[in-house]
Amino acid sequence: MRRERIVLVGAGRAAAAAAATLRREGFDGDLVVVGDEPHPPYRRPPLSKAWDGAAPCVDDLLVRDAEWYGTNAVELITGTRAVALDCASRQLTLADGARLGYDRLLLATGGRPRRLPGVRGDRIHHLRTVADAAALREQLAGDGPLVVLGGGFLGCEVAAAARASGVEVTIVEMAPTLLSRAVSPELGELFAALHRSRGVTVLTGERVDSVVQAGDQVVVRTCAQVLECAALLVAIGISRSTELLSGTPVACDDGVLVDEFAATSVPGVYAAGDVAAAHHPRYGRRVRVEHDDNAVRQATVAARNMLGARDVYDDPHWFWSDQFEHNLQMVGSPEGHDRSVVRGSPGEGAFSVFHLRGDRLVSVLAFDRGRDVVTGRKLVAAGATVAAEQLEDDAVDLRRLLRRQGGRPS
Ligand SMILES: Cc1cc2nc3c(=O)[nH]c(=O)nc-3n(C[C@H](O)[C@H](O)[C@H](O)COP(=O)(O)OP(=O)(O)OC[C@H]3O[C@@H](n4cnc5c(N)ncnc54)[C@H](O)[C@@H]3O)c2cc1C
Repeated sequence: MRRERIVLVGAGRAAAAAAATLRREGFDGDLVVVGDEPHPPYRRPPLSKAWDGAAPCVDDLLVRDAEWYGTNAVELITGTRAVALDCASRQLTLADGARLGYDRLLLATGGRPRRLPGVRGDRIHHLRTVADAAALREQLAGDGPLVVLGGGFLGCEVAAAARASGVEVTIVEMAPTLLSRAVSPELGELFAALHRSRGVTVLTGERVDSVVQAGDQVVVRTCAQVLECAALLVAIGISRSTELLSGTPVACDDGVLVDEFAATSVPGVYAAGDVAAAHHPRYGRRVRVEHDDNAVRQATVAARNMLGARDVYDDPHWFWSDQFEHNLQMVGSPEGHDRSVVRGSPGEGAFSVFHLRGDRLVSVLAFDRGRDVVTGRKLVAAGATVAAEQLEDDAVDLRRLLRRQGGRPS
């Protein structure tokens, strides 16, 4: 009898989670992972965080060591791009001309950094891969200044890491505050103050008009000033890697459209991670998420569903960010909340903000209070109804509130 074959396209966080789940759940057919980077799947979050001086080493970042793939009969094809997909005959074509038939396919191609049109130069950087991180750090070794274009999480983390290692840094952000897509203006201001207190120049509400590399210098003209730097990091978001799907019937928008089962519009084809734009039953709309934990969880659901389960993916989403010695974590979405309560002391340091819609807890954001998110995540996932006064009261153990909902604290 012909052996079944599952192909995972993109050798990143989502593909690694899917491969492990498929084997754990007993899939004993052929399992192939195809990735265009020269490495097995690795973790990207450390690439933008604390720089210890040395260039990042991919061996320290691997999701699983290289032997795992052999031991688990996972064929890992690295350094090879998938270039065409024929959904009718269920064939994937690779850049070297090889063709891979599949019974089920997972699209886990992630995204790539958005670029400034027409701007080129070896001092203009983007950050997605370990090679990108090495190139940026090498150029900044003992030398700056660095201009970071974009005050989102990636830009702020790199700014903090570079500044802490002694580099002169300026952040240029178009919005009125930092992190404006993810957090409240107040919290954005808190982060701007943190960066300024460490010597980062933070320019908000400032558009970039032009960027030109001239010799060893990059000249950035904003609407208000001219900045000269040794390196520019363009951190203005990602575009989903969906070019493989052009001309196929797989429905795409800004990402591969999937339902709550991580299935695309084409039978047998699934998508997970940064590339997926998923219908989210919890939020009642399509959601695109660019978080490490989402890639793992959504891919796990996709893998189980590829084997015949009907798991619904309705995770409330959790992410974290590290800047200087501070940690921010968030779970859920504050969208539509009508009340927020604070636990802890924003003036003095650690605090959490709980967002409620009526009595229902919809999201938790914690600044240096990760423990609140550990339990808060379970409360949000359970759709818990909680009295605001109890959330506010530091003497009330959140785990007790969870137990009352019938949940299990860790
Ligand atoms: C610097 C950095 C810091 C981050 N920090 C955090 C953080 O602190 N917290 C957090 O929650 N998230 C963070 N993230 C986001 C997190 O890393 C991503 O959400 C996660 O990597 C998504 O996993 P993925 O498998 O969907 O995509 P990826 O990890 O991007 O993997 C996709 C892979 O597919 C490859 N590929 C694309 N097209 C093809 C093709 N046609 N053929 C073959 N291969 C292809 C890509 O090259 C890539 O290797 C960070 C990301 C970056 C870049």
